[in-house]
Amino acid sequence: MREGIHPNYYQATVTCNCGNTFVTGSTKSAIHVEICSKCHSFYTGQQKVAAARGRIDKFNRKYGISK
Ligand SMILES: [Zn+2]
Repeated sequence: MREGIHPNYYQATVTCNCGNTFVTGSTKSAIHVEICSKCHSFYTGQQKVAAARGRIDKFNRKYGISK
């Protein structure tokens, strides 16, 4: 590789809103994310799925959509 034409490549520490941290390769030294594999509803299951369902009900009520 030629010197000076490539950005610095760090082992970046990624910090999630849920408090989870993990390390990945990046051109930034630190990354903050709102969701990760530890707190995404796909991985955590029922609790957040129920919360999402509540938001759909709220939306439906707001626009007068009944089942
Ligand atoms: Zn997370």
